[in-house]
Amino acid sequence: MMDVKKFEGIETPFYYYDKALLQETLAAIKAELSKHEGYHLHYAIKANANIDVLRVIQQAGFGVDAVSGGEIQRALDAGFAADKIVYAGVGKADWEINLGLDAGIFCFNVESLEELGIINELAAAKGKTARVCFRINPNVGAHTHANITTGLAENKFGIAMDDMETAIKAALEKKNIEFIGLHFHIGSQILEMGDFEGLCRRINELQDRLEAQGITVKNLNVGGGLGIAYDDPDGKPIPDFKKYFDTYTAGLQLRQGQQMHFELGRAVVGQMGSLITKVLYVKHAQVKQFCIVDAGMSDLIRPALYGAHHVIQNITSQEPQEKYDVVGPICESSDVFGKDEMLPACHRGDLIALRSAGAYGEIMACQYNCRKLPKAYLM
Ligand SMILES: *Cc1c(COP(=O)(O)O)cnc(C)c1O
Repeated sequence: MMDVKKFEGIETPFYYYDKALLQETLAAIKAELSKHEGYHLHYAIKANANIDVLRVIQQAGFGVDAVSGGEIQRALDAGFAADKIVYAGVGKADWEINLGLDAGIFCFNVESLEELGIINELAAAKGKTARVCFRINPNVGAHTHANITTGLAENKFGIAMDDMETAIKAALEKKNIEFIGLHFHIGSQILEMGDFEGLCRRINELQDRLEAQGITVKNLNVGGGLGIAYDDPDGKPIPDFKKYFDTYTAGLQLRQGQQMHFELGRAVVGQMGSLITKVLYVKHAQVKQFCIVDAGMSDLIRPALYGAHHVIQNITSQEPQEKYDVVGPICESSDVFGKDEMLPACHRGDLIALRSAGAYGEIMACQYNCRKLPKAYLM
């Protein structure tokens, strides 16, 4: 259980980031990566771009996976080396491509032939060469929420496997493009290793096909997507990185000297974060008891957006448990963090922790209802 004393005097709601857990998680990843030759991690910065968090990740020696110019800039500001930044996204604007070119990022993960043409033009105008990987849509499903699958033919991401050869040939002909590899990302919050095994089989097929045409691939980037135990933040604070990396090692037929790249986001930062909020009112309605807290969907949107559930703890009260719907102050019926939650009896002023909120929490906060953005503390 969290110690409420350390939160004394801090204005709620706020994100609390557990620095020790972040460091242990990074160490666990490093330990696993070091067992494999040529494996690299690019932290998916969109999960949490808090500058203090980024500095810790940067110091651990990892790179960054960015999906916008703003993220590239944030990564540079946090001290990440440009040659460890990869950049994906279906809609890269010219200024974003130019920023990547000027910084000298490791690679653009290209999602269409049109985009390849524009990158080539912009690179030519600067007298530079852009390194590119093609993002392939492997048409592999993932056992996760429909809004966070990305590798199906119906999703907007990537280039279809059948258009691969055409795309690579186009890249090889362009003067200001260096083709360096393939990129994939099938979705998020994936806990079944079978989904990643499915991706490995697709990659093996593809590599055989390309090899038959004399095309070699230096880098394979398999994206991110490893999930966390939202239902058990205290029991499983660190994801099973061994199982994750070993799945790829067993499933992929890697070629000589091939480099492997991973883009984990949620698995790196999810469990270290909690949204700390205060009970404003306890309302006894006819059929329900509502615990009304000062955080809302503007601070943590995952429950409203994906129907996600975060473990809710009253870290102040030790009284016998009662049943509550835990809700925020925002004028939307979907501003609900949990229904029929059993919590120690709640009173005005109690602190409530919404756990596993380190990923896609603070970064998705907005100012709906003209609210303040939540602050965050790494401690
Ligand atoms: C979001 C994203 C990731 C990270 O996903 P997680 O589920 O947080 O690991 C990796 N790569 C790309 C291209 C992404 O868009």
